Amino acid sequence: MHLLVIEDDARLVRLLRRLLTQDRHVVETAETADEGLEVAGASPGLDAVILDVGLPDRSGFEVARQLRRTGNSVPILMLTARDAVGDRVAGLDAGADDYLVKPFAYEELLARLRALGRRPPPRSTMRLTAGSIVLDEALRRVTVAGKEVQLSGREYSILECLLRRPGQVLSRDQLLDYAWPYGAALTPNTVEAYIHLLREKLGPDGAACIETVRGMGYRLRGS
Ligand code: CA
Repeated sequence: MHLLVIEDDARLVRLLRRLLTQDRHVVETAETADEGLEVAGASPGLDAVILDVGLPDRSGFEVARQLRRTGNSVPILMLTARDAVGDRVAGLDAGADDYLVKPFAYEELLARLRALGRRPPPRSTMRLTAGSIVLDEALRRVTVAGKEVQLSGREYSILECLLRRPGQVLSRDQLLDYAWPYGAALTPNTVEAYIHLLREKLGPDGAACIETVRGMGYRLRGS
């Protein structure tokens, strides 16, 4: 399996990496929530995410919510420090598929990963389109006129936000809230910069779908 471990306990990460690699899994690691989201966004082929609740920048619950919110349906196995019902419920509510209470036996982790791997892929084949742009939420893939376009996580989120509200003018603040839901200290200029990048990547055909509405924001055309 292709796995991502999001955990800030360096000893546990080293141990998991060693054991999982020995068992022929491909392991990526991230020590913070932000880093984990970036890696997850850039790795569409992930089979599962092992996600710690206690991370230095924000909680694993928020990571799970953000993954689901951006249409990423990768199975999530949550690691909770305590056997608290509240934590387990919060984890499942946030979009985790299963949880494991620390400390856990490695064999149990493997068993749970196998169980997650056996689950049928979600049937949701949500596709958002506008003109020649197609965003496949299940695959987290964007194509323009059938050609795949590689977008960063933020670019993807901004495009997704526009595609979800075709014909509607979205302000820079609305796009900021959607793509940076944790209130990072950013200015609306950041959105402009990302729209610029997005248009370049989408090419003339795709770029024509994103209309600038002066003094108001952006609107998606052609859906
Ligand atoms: Ca931790």
